[in-house]
Amino acid sequence: MKRMPVLFFGHGSPMNIIMDNAFTRSLRDLSEKLPKPQAVCVVSAHWQTRGTFVACQENLRQIYDFYGFPEELYKIRYEPPGCPDLARRAVTLMRLVDPIVRCNGEWGHDHAGWSVLKHLYPAVEVPVFLISVDMTAPLKRHVQLARSLAPLRDEGVLILGSGNVVHNLRDADFINMYAPPDQRGISFDMRVKEALLSGDIDTLVNYKRVGEPALYSVPTTDHYLPLLYVAALREEGEPLSFICEMFQNRSVSMRSFVVGG
Ligand code: ZN
Repeated sequence: MKRMPVLFFGHGSPMNIIMDNAFTRSLRDLSEKLPKPQAVCVVSAHWQTRGTFVACQENLRQIYDFYGFPEELYKIRYEPPGCPDLARRAVTLMRLVDPIVRCNGEWGHDHAGWSVLKHLYPAVEVPVFLISVDMTAPLKRHVQLARSLAPLRDEGVLILGSGNVVHNLRDADFINMYAPPDQRGISFDMRVKEALLSGDIDTLVNYKRVGEPALYSVPTTDHYLPLLYVAALREEGEPLSFICEMFQNRSVSMRSFVVGG
């Protein structure tokens, strides 16, 4: 079986679910080149937990975890089947790093997953399972958990991290999606880009060393953590290419990239 690529998406505002813009066009362009995996495994910025959990259900409940958006968004159905076998396989692999990783059926399929999958696999034909982000684990642990998942790439699983490199909602311009970004966000986003290109996981883990731009860009780690999973899964010599490099709403980086081919 061909080794699956690994993807990271800045998902940004739920408005991207229904918009035709540079970001969503980049998703649709990528969609034409993507293989059809056995399953997509989403590492979701929106499933924030103590400890790491995997959604192993046969059917995932679609979650509309956003508020105050147009009614149209709450009517969109994206309900792929779950994938219990491969989800349990992910649990087994991650237990090598953290023995208390386990299945959890309380969550479903939040918009970190379906907002991008709707553009990538519009026919809803690919099974999906989710992995939560453990908000209590040190960042190094996330790198180890990510690497434990590497065998899945050869078993037909496309791993997809969904968050945002820069995600500061306090400074967001919710009215104007195209508001010019803050210099601190630009600066952090560029530093992350360099670290990704050079495979500098140490800088990504110790991102706080970047100083003020890091404090501005990552006020909480939930949207940053999925990036670590994708970066850590890149193997020596594997290509990494950016499919989207832009900001939305002033303080949200939409930087998205593909590892492997
Ligand atoms: Zn989000």
